[in-house]
Amino acid sequence: MGRLNRRALLTRLQHLGVASRADLAKSLGMSQPTAGKIAEELLELGVLEEIDGAEPAPASSKGRVKLGRPGRLLRLNRTVPRFVALQLGVSETCVSTLCLGVSFSDNWQHRFKTPGSAELWAHRLKAIASRLPSAAYWGVLVSVPGIVDDLAGRVLFSPNLHWTEKVDLCRLVQEVWAVPVVLVQEERALALGYQHLHPRARDFLLVDFGESVGASLVVSGQLYDNLLPICAELGHVPVLGNKRPCGCGALGCLETLVSTRGLLQSFAAAHGGLVPTWEFMIETLAIRGVEPWLATTLDATSVVIAGALNVLGVRTVVVTGSLPDLPTAVMAHLSSAIRRGSIYARFGQIDIETAPRHRTAGLVAAGIDRLVVPMSNRDPAARGVASSSACDRHPGHSTPKHSVAANS
Ligand SMILES: [Zn+2]
Repeated sequence: MGRLNRRALLTRLQHLGVASRADLAKSLGMSQPTAGKIAEELLELGVLEEIDGAEPAPASSKGRVKLGRPGRLLRLNRTVPRFVALQLGVSETCVSTLCLGVSFSDNWQHRFKTPGSAELWAHRLKAIASRLPSAAYWGVLVSVPGIVDDLAGRVLFSPNLHWTEKVDLCRLVQEVWAVPVVLVQEERALALGYQHLHPRARDFLLVDFGESVGASLVVSGQLYDNLLPICAELGHVPVLGNKRPCGCGALGCLETLVSTRGLLQSFAAAHGGLVPTWEFMIETLAIRGVEPWLATTLDATSVVIAGALNVLGVRTVVVTGSLPDLPTAVMAHLSSAIRRGSIYARFGQIDIETAPRHRTAGLVAAGIDRLVVPMSNRDPAARGVASSSACDRHPGHSTPKHSVAANS
């Protein structure tokens, strides 16, 4: 029960940003002493911090005094970096230290070209680690592409980064930072980040376009979990008539058409020239509109997304990544095609919106979920096992002192 209350208070504070103890108690239906006790505990652990605020003036003073006496407000700690975040991208790896209180925009402090082997990748990480502030980090949070068993901490299949299938990524990272490591499948990180910053979004399919194409699903405010560690792999649905080879080993996957590389390849084929830069393609499309090759690609994409909506029974699509960077006619074409394919649109409303990627916010949400206040029944820590995650197996490590689970 204590852990449930702590999680409830943390989640509410994540959504509110800043709140007083009294506001938290009231909005959660807790007694003030209970909320106050949890707040003190989280303050002591460094999960929360206090900032100066002004309590609302009493009703009787209305019209005379705008602000009441200064109060102490709570927020997630934005002062001390607690996590190292990694984005293992197909072509680029990004690294940053993160506090528990995150901002709206991703701000990666270090970047390097993702090399073709685990050894070189670890070598580059070590070089960056020596430049990061030395701090008692609580964990490393890694956004990983491909089919990822996040609880087991393994990459099962990675169409565009096959070397990650053959190595123990957690152990590799722990050779650089000897703290627990949490792997988060990249689209799941994006969905968690979107939800973290848009707490009213309870049911949505997030589709991300970039070097690869993937999706993740949030239902009733929770990331959807299947029996298999695979969900919404829209990029690898075959498109009839498409013969392009895909990194997954199949022919004709949607990703080979609508990934950044696929779009550039189609543009070059249509214009009879070399593969252009992304910026040149955007400029040309801004003048020429949705050309026939692009319309065909967008229509194929819409069939896959509408099929997912029809199967899953959700009516909100959040599109992130490279497609929203293209001229607005592109998203307009895709949106109307999705609505044409969705049965719900015949009598209801399908919402399609674009959003920036909130990857760091998603990673921190996963870090809080897995390391700070573990709740999932599937999570070893939530079952009282000393190890706080499947990746937390390096010698000499005990349950992290910061983990609220360790104190419950
Ligand atoms: Zn494929």
